[in-house]
Amino acid sequence: MIRGSCLCGRVRYELDGVPRFINHCHCAMCRKAHAAAFGSFLHADGTRFRWIAGEENVTRYPSSPGNVRAFCATCGSNVPVLEDAGAHVIVPAGTLDDDPLVRPIVHVHVGSKAPWHTITDGLPQFAAFPPQSFWDPWE
Ligand SMILES: [Zn+2]
Ligand SMILES: [Zn+2]
Repeated sequence: MIRGSCLCGRVRYELDGVPRFINHCHCAMCRKAHAAAFGSFLHADGTRFRWIAGEENVTRYPSSPGNVRAFCATCGSNVPVLEDAGAHVIVPAGTLDDDPLVRPIVHVHVGSKAPWHTITDGLPQFAAFPPQSFWDPWE
């Protein structure tokens, strides 16, 4: 089991099984939402995700059509978002309390990368969002 929580601890969640992967997104919206050089997102089977506490404290913000961001109303930490009618969960990796067992596989939207940040790992980089063929082996 993999646990996660927000900064203040009101929102807590758990995930069973092994997640799919982590991606780093450098788009301007992720940079602002995470107040960081990039957002890191753990992707997993949504049916294996559950809220343990504080779901009523989760506020959702539609940052662009079809893209919702969720955060703790008390402390502002990003928290998980369920997509595809709950089939898929996207977890802000910074909120994990346990090792998620999988590691980052890609940097996306590096065309919007912060000029003060240098990517120093060897992961694939895409200027925008990778084509579906990139994701197929991971889904
Ligand atoms: Zn909180
Ligand atoms: Zn992004």
